[in-house]
Amino acid sequence: MRFQKSVVWLLFVWGIVLFPCNQSKIHGQASQIPALKNEAVASSQKRSETAWILAQKIWDLAEPGYLEKQSSNLLADLLEKDGFVVKRGVAGIPTAFTATIGSGKPVITILGEYDALPELSQEALPYRKPRLLANGTEGNGYGQACGHHLFGVASATAAQAVGDLIKKGGLKGTVRFYGCPAEEGGAAKAFMVREGLFKDVDVALHWHPGNRNAAGDPSCLARIAAKFRFHGQAAHAAGSPEKGRSALDGLLLTIHAVELMREHTPDGTRLHHTITSGGGAANVVPEFAEGFFYVRHPKGEVVSTLWPRLLKCAQAGALATETRLEVVPLGGTLELLPNDTLAQVTRKNLKALNNLEYSKEETAFALRIRETFPDKAPPLETIREVVDTSGKTTMGSTDVGDVSWVVPTTGFYAATWVPGTPGHSWQAVACGGTTIGKKGMVLASRVLAASAVDLMTQPEIVERAKAEQKQRLSGSLYAPLLDKDQKPPLDYRLAGKRSGGE
Ligand SMILES: [Zn+2]
Repeated sequence: MRFQKSVVWLLFVWGIVLFPCNQSKIHGQASQIPALKNEAVASSQKRSETAWILAQKIWDLAEPGYLEKQSSNLLADLLEKDGFVVKRGVAGIPTAFTATIGSGKPVITILGEYDALPELSQEALPYRKPRLLANGTEGNGYGQACGHHLFGVASATAAQAVGDLIKKGGLKGTVRFYGCPAEEGGAAKAFMVREGLFKDVDVALHWHPGNRNAAGDPSCLARIAAKFRFHGQAAHAAGSPEKGRSALDGLLLTIHAVELMREHTPDGTRLHHTITSGGGAANVVPEFAEGFFYVRHPKGEVVSTLWPRLLKCAQAGALATETRLEVVPLGGTLELLPNDTLAQVTRKNLKALNNLEYSKEETAFALRIRETFPDKAPPLETIREVVDTSGKTTMGSTDVGDVSWVVPTTGFYAATWVPGTPGHSWQAVACGGTTIGKKGMVLASRVLAASAVDLMTQPEIVERAKAEQKQRLSGSLYAPLLDKDQKPPLDYRLAGKRSGGE
């Protein structure tokens, strides 16, 4: 016992002699971290009412990808008024922007989104009811079915909370919010990466609305999207069908070919399509038709091999129907490159800060929403848990994937929807328009703020995250799924045009 004590004492003295400054410096910083984190979290919480007003406005606007003019301005104005240096219209995208506060290293970024989805206009009610405008129409028919109104606002208010500490001199470094449009199929972040907007960035943080709280940085599916437009010849469908060439036939044949291709693709492949234009009258041979196609797989390199095969299906459709094919490439996004080092930071904060509870009214709403699901939903109490998603692959895609290949990146899910709610559903729109969405949004903002403080006060975590990213890449280069000269498809949410002529 005496011997052990003397060894410990000797090691202690040896430590002080060898690392005196280092020890005290780290100790000094470490003791301040909890207070700084508490301050950032309180600062984010303090903004919850103004944040909710803003989120409701963006929910109301429900603007389509690349057309989120008002939503992006609302967020950019908020940050500009708070002292952030705002650059609007970055990467050749009018609704993309960055907002920076502070200076020097580290540069911590928080990503935010705000685009909505078509065909999912919905009131904040527990039954299906599309929102009607004052003029009695459904307007653009879009709804915030992926909760991006909450995503953008929570990220922006978290950046403000950290910005407060930078302004006071409590934290050193830079925080930058990225206003990222058109996540739903527009691949904006891939273009923002290509523009070099992440070159000086040390870490990127993001989150996503969900039906549960989860962290652990799962990967996701890489994807390529395209529209196939067919141009044919209009004619009277009964009187002179031989004079017509149906653009819709070209599209239908393409869809059939894609369905046959599906069987002969690697496991994990996902192929989807929808008809966005298919003619207007049964007695007119359709002159124009347009389909929207996705191909996905957990590996970007596999998606690259599937894309030419998808293209062949469309070429075959055009060949057989004597119509002209116009390909509108919409770009692709890579799978997420996970980062365990960073995921541990967000998971710890999400666990520590999760205070979700439904009020009586929210519980009543949640129970009614549950009745609309075809399958049994998890219990409401699961909102108190935090699921560890390490090593998993989520069956969706995000253009955050491209960011994660160039900057160590981590994200998490906060429960903004009733447990069991599928993303991209009217139920998700409804939940996101109620205080259930608000509570998840405020939680996300607090977790982002706390995590940013962790990273700004502990440079060793950032270094470890960078080393992990390097190791995961193991020499492979970032190979975006974008054509070299491809421009952001700013009009991809607009109906296809009959290009006529030629
Ligand atoms: Zn989303």
